[in-house]
This record gives sequence, C-alpha cells and structure tokens, in this order.
Amino acid sequence: MNHYRMPTEDIGFVLFDVLQAPAQLAALPAFGEADEPLMRQLLNEMAKFIDGEIAPLNRTGDEVGAQWKDGAVTMPPGFRDAYQAFWQAGWPALSAAAEDGGQGLPAVIEAVLYENLSAANHGWTMAPGLLHGAYECIRHHASDELKAAYLEKVAIGEWLATMCLTEPHAGSDLGLCSTKAQPQAEGSYALSGTKIFISGGEHDLTDNIVHLVLARLPDAPPGPKGLSLFLVPKFYADGSRSAVFCERIEEKMGLHGSPTCVMRFDAARGWLVGEPGKGLNAMFVMMNAARLHVALQGVGLLGAAWQKADAYAAERKQMRAPGASQTSLISEHPAVQRLLQTQRAWIDGARVLAYQTAVELDIARHHPDAARRQRAERWCALTTPVLKAAFTHQAFHGGSDCLQVFGGHGYVREWGVEQHVRDARVAMIYEGTNEIQAIDLLVRKVLADGGAGLNALLAELEADARIAGNAPAADALHALQQTTTALAARCAQDATLAYQVADDYLRAVAVGLLAWAWTRIAASAPAEPRWQAPARAFRAWVLPELAMRLGIVASLETAHA
Ligand SMILES: Cc1cc2nc3c(=O)[nH]c(=O)nc-3n(C[C@H](O)[C@H](O)[C@H](O)COP(=O)(O)OP(=O)(O)OC[C@H]3O[C@@H](n4cnc5c(N)ncnc54)[C@H](O)[C@@H]3O)c2cc1C
Repeated sequence: MNHYRMPTEDIGFVLFDVLQAPAQLAALPAFGEADEPLMRQLLNEMAKFIDGEIAPLNRTGDEVGAQWKDGAVTMPPGFRDAYQAFWQAGWPALSAAAEDGGQGLPAVIEAVLYENLSAANHGWTMAPGLLHGAYECIRHHASDELKAAYLEKVAIGEWLATMCLTEPHAGSDLGLCSTKAQPQAEGSYALSGTKIFISGGEHDLTDNIVHLVLARLPDAPPGPKGLSLFLVPKFYADGSRSAVFCERIEEKMGLHGSPTCVMRFDAARGWLVGEPGKGLNAMFVMMNAARLHVALQGVGLLGAAWQKADAYAAERKQMRAPGASQTSLISEHPAVQRLLQTQRAWIDGARVLAYQTAVELDIARHHPDAARRQRAERWCALTTPVLKAAFTHQAFHGGSDCLQVFGGHGYVREWGVEQHVRDARVAMIYEGTNEIQAIDLLVRKVLADGGAGLNALLAELEADARIAGNAPAADALHALQQTTTALAARCAQDATLAYQVADDYLRAVAVGLLAWAWTRIAASAPAEPRWQAPARAFRAWVLPELAMRLGIVASLETAHA
C-alpha cells in the first residue's frame, strides 16, 4: 500500500496561477513578506514532513488505535514523537500572531497544511486540528491572567486543546447543555457534568491539555443564552491535576487514531472566558475556524482516496476497452475514467474555493479598505457552511466511488482505501451536522436579508464567468440567483419550506461555486489532459446537478403552494 504524497505541484498551481494568492495578500500590510518564493519553500518543507513523518503512521493509527486504561489514553505507536516534532518545528503556530509566539503567516498556508495532514492521517490530525480555533478563542475572549498562562502554549501547540460542547442529551441543540459552573470565593468556578464525544479529551501527546467547556452558571436562563465558556486545564500551574476524568473512549466506525472521549467534570476548577451568558459567541470563533478545517479535511480525504484509486487504475488490467485490441488497463475504460475524473473535478474545484476562503479570512481581518473587508466577511459567512457540508459529503460519497475503482480489492483492507471512506464519514456529522450547515446557510444567512447578500456575491461570480466566456457556468449562477429570489419570497409566507429545501439548496450553491472555481482554473490552465479531462468531467457530470437540485427546490415550492 502506498502512503499519501502531498500533491505540491497541483497545490502550487491553484495558489499561484489560479488564485494568485501572494498578489491578493500583498494588499495586506501584515503579510508583506509572504511572497511566492517563501510560500513555495513552506510547501516543500510541509511535503517533506507530511510524506515522511505523518503519512506512514496512518495505517498503525487505524489498526492499533488509541487505547484507554484506567482513565489514561495511550496514542498509537509513533503518534507522540510525530506530534512533538510537529510543534517543535513550529507548524501549529504558522498563522498565530508573532507576539503570541507564532509566525504571523497567512491563513491560506495553514489551510494547505491541514488539508494535507488530514489526507495523510486524519486520526493524528484531529489532535492539532482544534488548536487554531482554541488560540483565537483565548486570544479574543480570555482575561489577561488566562492569556498569560495559556495563550502562548496553545498558540505554539506545546499544549493541545479541546472543545467540550456535546452532552448525552445536547448535540445539535447546545442550548440543552446542563454542565454546571458554581462560582468559588477566589474568582474561579467549579464545573460539574459530563461531556461526550470529546476529541482528544485525554492523550499522551502533550504534557498538558486545555479544555474549553460550555457550562451554565447557577442563575443562568435556560437555552443558548444561559451558556458561558470556561477554561479548565488538565494540570494547573503548580503541577496538581484537575478533577477532569476520561471515563472511556468510544468504539467507532473509523478515525481510530483519535480518542473520542467521555469526560467527567467533578467540581473541576476553571475560569470564565469572555462574559457570562456569551459562551456560544466565544465558542463560535472556534467553531468557524473549525468548520473551514473540516471542509479541508473533506478535500484532503477525497484527495487521498483519489490518489490510491488513480495509481491502482494505472496498473490493473481487465477486459478490452472500447476500440482496443487487447486487454486494457482499467484506467482506459470510460466507466473508470468517469469515476476518477469526476472526483478529480471536485478536488481541484474544492481546493480553489477552500484556499480562496482562507485568503478572504485574512482580507476580512487585515485589509485597509473597510468595503473590501466587508465583502470578505460576506464571502466567509456565506461559503463556510457550503464548503463544510459539500466537501465532507463528497469525501465520503466520492471516496466510495474511488473505492469502486478497486473492485473487490477496495473492500478489503490491503489497499487502504476503505480506511479513508470510514474515516471520512464522521466529517459529515461533527462541527455541526451537514443538515445544520444547510439551515445555517439558508435560514440564518440567505433569508435573513431576503437573499440580497448571496445574490450580490453570485452576481459578481456570474460576471466573472461571462467575461471569461464560460456561458454554462454564468447561466448556472444566474439560475441560482433567480431561485434565491423566488425562494426568499415563498419562504416569507411559509415558515417550514426553507427547512425542507435547505439541503438541496446548499448543494446547488456548492455546484454554482464550483462552476466559478472551474472558470478560474480554465483561465489559467495549460491545455494538458491533467486539467482538460477534469474540466470536461465537471461540465458533463457535476454541473448538471445544479439544475437537478433547483428542480427539486421548485417542486417542493409547488407542493407547498
Ligand atoms: C468522532 C466524533 C468526534 C467529535 N468531536 C467532538 C468534540 O471534540 N467536541 C464536541 O463538543 N463534540 C464533538 N462531537 C460531537 C458532534 O459535534 C455531534 O455528534 C454533532 O453535533 C451532532 O450531535 P448529535 O450526535 O447529538 O446528533 P443530534 O443533534 O441528535 O442529531 C441527530 C440527527 O438529527 C438531525 N437534526 C438535529 N437537529 C436538527 C435540526 N434542527 N434540523 C435538521 N436536522 C436536525 C441531525 O442533522 C442528525 O442527522 C464529535 C462527534 C464524533 C462522532
């Protein structure tokens, strides 16, 4: 079985030719030094580390898995050493601010890192995956005392962090959380309750773990507005252990290298982060960062499954392809080409969208022009739920298509592709299920302004596609705007309609955004089969889904009339 190898050339093409990321970032004084040579050097270093250190641990992570014994969790062989090498080389701190111990580099570099770490070893990558969100959360909301004790350790990844939200009866509806926080005389709080499904709640990768926990003060109102955020470390500054215990880890379908923990808080001493009752606001900083990361997991996992399938198809011979005189490689059969090129079209287009979103995140924070910052915020708010839901859906379903390329050999463990499919499944569930992402997009974001914000964005993309001469993409983006306008009017009269069409609507938006991404790729792509074949596959097998989804939306509108 071959390990994943970071496709540095493809990534460089998207970053430098398609998106011209260094030129976009040059307008931001914060990133004056992040030019193409520096970015290329980082990509090469990244590839060395990921291919050499992280990818080879993927199979052991799956087979041995994280092990629980008497409250302690031992990570699979090699995981701790790889993590120590990772943080000591400065990788977790790439985009953290220099004053916090970070390197102050653009978010897009971090996006490339996490896409490829997830592709190489999703289980291992779950550990550092929440660090950046935790860093932002502490940086923006914690008191000066907490920052002094925790910010730098989390920024550089010397200590890992968790996000403790879910409880047995509170999943999508966090307003049901019942973990209690009792104020103590010296200004701390005693936290009591049980959190479940906590990724990395316990492990031996780092010497300390920083838990960010949603809990309820004694006088808090019921529902989400009664939730506050607290920080509880595994070890305090004096070396004593907090009363946070890992009761067990879950047996799961995949992702065995990541311990999914049941955590018990027994009057554990912690401190408030941000204002009382504003816990979800503080946590959303963390969750938004995490959602783009999960979208990148989707791109990476699909890329990993594709790499294996493509290599297999170039070696396996069966039957004669149409027009061939002898037994052919399966890569010459149109049915296999269709499977592979369709997923290739998703991966390339998804990469353009995910990286552009990372660039927009930095523009939203650092651009000198307020109007440009606002447009960037609009891009991030509208596209993040779409990318999270669409790319994780594709990682599982498209990954399964990659498995199909192996025939029966894909279903057995030897080639490793079945692990990608099992590992990918959870990304459709965590960080807000894909159904919740669809509601976030349509109900909270699109309908909130009658569709005006999304339509303005789509109109810009349509104009771009028309200038580039890509009529099918421009027409699709136009149809999407018409549906958005009609849907906003219908939903104003019918409170349930939006919830029924949200998933199809999100999927149509995803394909519309991909159509724009492929317009951009086409504008820079050389006339090589590498880029022409997926461009054709996109037009033939991906783009038509937009009309189909809009048809479903229209028929549901009619059914509700
Ligand atoms: C491997 C793994 C790791 C995880 N890591 C973490 C972690 O680190 N920290 C953490 O706090 N949590 C974590 N989670 C929990 C995860 O975020 C939740 O599982 C997820 O939010 C869904 O909650 P639930 O499982 O209770 O499902 P439910 O909320 O009960 O949902 C069940 C089904 O109902 C649907 N549904 C629910 N409400 C609605 C609605 N309003 N509209 C439409 N459909 C709806 C959902 O989409 C889903 O299909 C993890 C979960 C797993 C499996």
